[in-house]
Amino acid sequence: MRILLVEDDALLGDAIQAGLKQTGYAIDWLRDGVAADQALSTEPYDAVVLDWGLPRLSGIEVLQRLRARRMDVPVLLLTARDTIDDRIEGLDCGADDYLIKPFDLGELSARLRALVRRSGGNATPWLTAGEIELDPASHRVNHQGRPVELSAKEFSLLHALMLAQGRVLSRAQLEEKLYAWGDEVESNAVEVHVHHLRRKLYAELITTIRGVGYLIR
Ligand code: CA
Repeated sequence: MRILLVEDDALLGDAIQAGLKQTGYAIDWLRDGVAADQALSTEPYDAVVLDWGLPRLSGIEVLQRLRARRMDVPVLLLTARDTIDDRIEGLDCGADDYLIKPFDLGELSARLRALVRRSGGNATPWLTAGEIELDPASHRVNHQGRPVELSAKEFSLLHALMLAQGRVLSRAQLEEKLYAWGDEVESNAVEVHVHHLRRKLYAELITTIRGVGYLIR
């Protein structure tokens, strides 16, 4: 899961980045609205955590530009403003959810999971595919009802393929979901994770489409 975090407060940004990284997300952190607007026009994100009050371009303006480009990536707005009018303005501009500062990191993480799940068209928290069940909240994976231990990257890869069930994801798309800017990526990282998933779960779970990518049917 690749998340863009836009927050100009260094302490808060650092805490959010560290907290979300622990849950296995790849986080790109930017500190102003113009940089966020540029990143959102070029990079594919699964969700955005967007502060309202930002230098150079406000969070609301970033959001308006994003929606004007018809991009429907889920956005969670962070704000210190808590009047009814502010909330309505934020939602009317295309935010999918918002949190009022100060907030709990666990709640931020739970709301992000809910946003990503809904944008993938899933209403229930557990995802299922073939003999596999996956719970994004507890990071648990069951094969035929029995728990299986996966590394953080293996879990993220499986999660991405299950959210996209029935669609092929290319190696580049999967790398983008697993790694943030500046992360070291081995050239065959995705192949290695897929290999491990097939071994730990079962071989037929993930289909290779030669020259295109991978899918879970
Ligand atoms: Ca701010």
